[in-house]
Amino acid sequence: MIEFEQKVWHDLATPNRILIGPGPSNVDPRVLQAMVRQPIGHLDPNFLAIMDEVKDGLRRLFLTENDLTFPVSGTGSAGMEACLANLIEDGDKVLVFVKGYFGGRMAQMAKRLGGEVIVVEQEWGKAFDPDDACKVIRQNSPKVVALVHAETSTGVLQPVEEIARCAREVDAIIVLDTVTSLGGVQVLIDDWGIDVSFSATQKCVGTPPGLAPVTFNSRAIKVLQSRKSPCKNWYFDALLIRSYWGEERAYHHTAPINMVIALREALRLIEEEGLENRWKRHQVNGLALASGLEGMGLSLLVCEPEHRLPVLTTVLVPDGIDDARVRMRLLNEFNLEIGAGLGPLKGQIWRFGLMGYSSQRRNVFLALSALGSILKDEGFPCSVDEGLDAAQQVYRNYEGVTVEV
Ligand code: PLP
Repeated sequence: MIEFEQKVWHDLATPNRILIGPGPSNVDPRVLQAMVRQPIGHLDPNFLAIMDEVKDGLRRLFLTENDLTFPVSGTGSAGMEACLANLIEDGDKVLVFVKGYFGGRMAQMAKRLGGEVIVVEQEWGKAFDPDDACKVIRQNSPKVVALVHAETSTGVLQPVEEIARCAREVDAIIVLDTVTSLGGVQVLIDDWGIDVSFSATQKCVGTPPGLAPVTFNSRAIKVLQSRKSPCKNWYFDALLIRSYWGEERAYHHTAPINMVIALREALRLIEEEGLENRWKRHQVNGLALASGLEGMGLSLLVCEPEHRLPVLTTVLVPDGIDDARVRMRLLNEFNLEIGAGLGPLKGQIWRFGLMGYSSQRRNVFLALSALGSILKDEGFPCSVDEGLDAAQQVYRNYEGVTVEV
């Protein structure tokens, strides 16, 4: 007989952090409350009704009429894998625009999936010039074009409309990563002519991590239906999943019930706020933070203001300052979580995210004053007052915009 010695688990006490990094973000208490309930079955009529609401809410958020719109069970990378695995077959030409870490992840996935991948690179911290991007698309005539809308590793917002038009000219399918942009900045899937997009719930959508909203238009569905071989990934096969999320209601895999319920509540909150008001809130808070950081004497990584992503601001770590030590002090002394640089930007930048419930004026002032006081303490002569004044000026300029939730 096996003798088990009982292990004593202690009660869990996670800290109450203010999440102003690259994600996850804080979520509205209403979303948390919505999750805390007994699960119901994935084919329960009540759950089927919730699924319909979620699909509708996601269409309204992506601004699309696409029937095949649903949350993939998994985080943003699962959404990425789902989109690419469905579209790519062995030897397919896939053009990936890489201007940061997550573009690089798409290129890696596309290679693993058997694609003949052409990588076009841009310096980290800059956007692609749409004319240059179009030239490469026309030269290569790929089957799939993939790019990141909001590159979380650099804080760059990529203009995509013209690139999408060129992709269509050569009959390519364009896949857009909207993980960090959806719900925080304008994403117009149908107007821009985006064929496929994936996102994640833990950033500007306002739900804990665990789901990846995706959308496929009819051009993309035709590609899926005319594959020579089935999608290599059974779990993410969109045509199989459609039989569950569509009319048929056939079991595919057990939906993460409580996460879907949380997403429903987040979508309800978005509807109550109004999408345009939500974009404006993110824009103004992002602008105030960026102005405040510059006012304090810090430099931003992204030089062109029109390419700065309001929901994620990247700032250069001043010479002589220990990047990790400052982040640790923010966490330990103020409960504030910010992000470090990734890849070549490791140790070079800090990443401040103001996404979803975290995008609030109070967090902007807290971030500026906490960072400023720590930097002064660490020997960097920054002017906290000037930073706060610069942020305040932005709010004065946008009086009337609701910047708290
Ligand atoms: N794409 C972008 C732009 C991201 O920022 C992230 C995560 O931060 C991902 C993809 C991957 O998402 P996840 O970490 O949720 O798997």
